[in-house]
Amino acid sequence: MLFTTQAMLQLFPNTHGATADEISIKHVATDTRVSMNHALFVPIKGENFNGHDYLRQAIEQGAVAALWNKNENIPAYVPTDFPIFLVDNTLTALQQLAAYYRELVDPHVIGVTGSNGKTTTKDIIASVLAGKFKTHRTQGNLNNHIGVPLTILSMPNDTEVLVVEMGMNHFGEIEVLSKIAQPNHAVITNIGESHIEFLGSRAGIAKAKAEILSGLDQEGKLIFDGDEPLLYPYQNTVANISIGFNETNAIVIKDVVISSSSSTFYYNQEQYSIPLLGKHHVKNASFAIAIAKELGVKPQMIREKLATIELTGMRFETAKGRNGATIIDDTYNASPTSMRAAIEVVKELKAYDKKILVLGDMFELGENTKAYHREIAEEITKDIHYLCTIGESALEIHKAAEQRLPALKSNHFATKNDLIQYLQPLLTPSTVVLLKASRGMKLEEVSKQLV
Ligand code: ATP
Ligand code: MG
Repeated sequence: MLFTTQAMLQLFPNTHGATADEISIKHVATDTRVSMNHALFVPIKGENFNGHDYLRQAIEQGAVAALWNKNENIPAYVPTDFPIFLVDNTLTALQQLAAYYRELVDPHVIGVTGSNGKTTTKDIIASVLAGKFKTHRTQGNLNNHIGVPLTILSMPNDTEVLVVEMGMNHFGEIEVLSKIAQPNHAVITNIGESHIEFLGSRAGIAKAKAEILSGLDQEGKLIFDGDEPLLYPYQNTVANISIGFNETNAIVIKDVVISSSSSTFYYNQEQYSIPLLGKHHVKNASFAIAIAKELGVKPQMIREKLATIELTGMRFETAKGRNGATIIDDTYNASPTSMRAAIEVVKELKAYDKKILVLGDMFELGENTKAYHREIAEEITKDIHYLCTIGESALEIHKAAEQRLPALKSNHFATKNDLIQYLQPLLTPSTVVLLKASRGMKLEEVSKQLV
């Protein structure tokens, strides 16, 4: 059981319909396309849809109560014994309910924000802590003003650790999420360039991510990317652990060795290994190790759990492709930071004599979009043999790379079909192909044809 309608009366005393009976609410749902059985239905008004139009479906599918905007008409078909809680704003009420439930269950909360690596870090933290605690985590990427409350409200009553991903596009958003989740540990994975068009500068991005501190517990700690100077000012305001490759960090990561199936590294004096490739993932794993140690998980248990971490799909998935080639599908999303990180991994891979980058547009970069794309070419060196680009902005990568590296076989493609035709004959057992672009480019349509 989550809570009862009686508990809700304390928060939302303005009601319609019978509320005298104590009804158990088993989960909270905003969307009638997911299960409504014993649910509290929370209609949200968006740009295109008004959730209040779907109450009939919700009731038919088993909803047992609803939040309701007091300015919306209550339809005549609603049974008289169906409790409705009237509120000024159903979204705010959902957030209020989540804050209430977080305090009721009172797990140890770990909040994860940053420009890149939130989902990965969240998944690694949860996988490692599940060895010792009843752990609940954000499903997939539900990291916004609706996803965070729903994540909190979906945790079982006996949850000991809750790992919450927090995303944002604008100032003020992380502050709201952090005040709802009230983290005991806050993680800032890195500062990149995503959403710079709304936040003005990288310093603006750092400030927006640091809003996670506004809900942090008094005795809480910040775990952060210690290689990012823009985060240094926050070190004086809160207990913290800086983690990174620079010698000045509290935790220094060293001696990273990347093979085709794992990355091995030192976390201060201790050696660890993860089944993920790249220095950026080593850093993400190090955030998780730090938190696990804070919570008393033994190094041996940490090692065991790191060996079996599972990530959400389309994030740096390595697969065997046609003709025995290795296909790295990182098509879930892209920003300049994550694209450079991915290219670095490919450069460091041994045992391939044909290394191919397939790069598409990165979105939401504002007025400097072209420059960000051109700068990607600087990451490409003679360790890369082929570059294939697709999309209007990615053309800039091709043009810049062609100039810098005459030996590089660089081509720009107008269609995915042309691209697939070009790639297929290049696949051999010693070929590795990295595919990366923003979500909207749907580059997985290409990788699927290569596997
Ligand atoms: P979103 O904003 O879409 O929720 P996210 O922050 O959750 O993204 P992930 O989904 O974990 O990030 O990873 C997205 C991309 O960032 C991947 O391509 C991954 O390779 C890259 N990445 C992961 N961690 C880092 C990091 N610490 N630094 C730079 N790039 C990273
Ligand atoms: Mg994410």
